[in-house]
Amino acid sequence: MDTPRLHRAESEVAELLSDLIRIDTTNTGDTSTSAGERAAAEWVAGKLDEVGISSVIHESERGRASLVARIPGADRSRPALLVHGHLDVVPADPAEWSVHPFSGEERDGYIWGRGAVDMKDMDAMVLALARDWARTGVQPPRDIVLAYVADEEAGGKLGAHFLVDEHPDLFEGCTEAISEVGGFSITVRDDLRLYLVQTAEKGLAWMRLTAAGKPGHGSMLHDDNAVTRLCEAVARVGAHRFPLTLTPPMRSFIEAVEDAYGVEIDPAEPEVALARLGSISRMIGAALRNTANPTMLDAGYKANVIPGTASATVDGRFLYGQEEEFERQLAALIGEGVQREWLVHDQAVETTFDGPLVDSMVAALRAEDGGARPVPFTMSGGTDAKSFQTLGMRCFGFSPLRLPPELDFASLFHGIDERVPVESLQFGIRVLDRFLRHS
Ligand SMILES: [Zn+2]
Repeated sequence: MDTPRLHRAESEVAELLSDLIRIDTTNTGDTSTSAGERAAAEWVAGKLDEVGISSVIHESERGRASLVARIPGADRSRPALLVHGHLDVVPADPAEWSVHPFSGEERDGYIWGRGAVDMKDMDAMVLALARDWARTGVQPPRDIVLAYVADEEAGGKLGAHFLVDEHPDLFEGCTEAISEVGGFSITVRDDLRLYLVQTAEKGLAWMRLTAAGKPGHGSMLHDDNAVTRLCEAVARVGAHRFPLTLTPPMRSFIEAVEDAYGVEIDPAEPEVALARLGSISRMIGAALRNTANPTMLDAGYKANVIPGTASATVDGRFLYGQEEEFERQLAALIGEGVQREWLVHDQAVETTFDGPLVDSMVAALRAEDGGARPVPFTMSGGTDAKSFQTLGMRCFGFSPLRLPPELDFASLFHGIDERVPVESLQFGIRVLDRFLRHS
């Protein structure tokens, strides 16, 4: 019954995604070298305009454009639902890819290119569905706010954060939101797939560590070396395994894995059993504890000169409720004589896996996949949910994709040969249609 109505959305989603990938929206973290968000936002505006949906575009800085549209619901007294996606992508080096990363090529049933899973796929699915609805006269039960935003890949300051701070009225009445990263399947067996719905994400704590020492000649005895001091601290941080902390979503997730695979998971060492999930276990494992990975080093300018300072950058991530504990853990590891400053710091977010919205997600997934078992999980990275949560919304990662069992999905995020199956996009449209019509 639903299929004929969605025919147009399912047939145009691949082309919409290819077109969007061809608009290079690389976000380098620096506006002067970032390109394309304006062109992408205007392209989305044009596609919405074609079917009579008006939208507004706001720029935080020149070219850093975000688009917002509101589809009025049948009952305007009900709270609205935000569906948001980012338009920017991380850089890609064509030399490393099988196809050009900005070609949007369709090959072997997949759409290839930077953004194919992060997250122009969801952008295109929502766009295709909105266009289908407008053409066939479908009205959602309540207002749906669509947001296509800039700058997520650099923390969202010039995208979601900007909109929330400067134009909160655009999100008036929104109490819940869906976006990346979640809704995708992990195949347990032919008749059972776990669908991971993101209900929480870790907080972000990028930091610089700086050690000071006595500068001097590299040939002489020297017991106050900034490089040595820094490296000792960096090595302690990098080698440390933070204690296991089971948050509510991960407790549920582990129970679901135990049940699905018929195994018992050792609560002290859950990573061992979780390894059976494949490469996604690297993301899942990072949601069981705080983490801190050294990523950059900077010291010195000549082989025989001991510099007076040395610094390092560390990518720290803390679980919901662990912000202060993480700071204490870090202080103990870093020790004396090394200063820590935050470069980027943003909250962890968490909501519960219950309520009518979650019921609709579960029902929509099960209707389209009889073997679907939706489970909550915590994402190890960060998304724009951090911004929208500040307006009081419950945020979920729900970009539904039924994936082929052999696809190494986790490695495609920011990876080489990023690609998404066309059939997965069509599945996603059908799930989103059911979900949004019953939310
Ligand atoms: Zn993303």
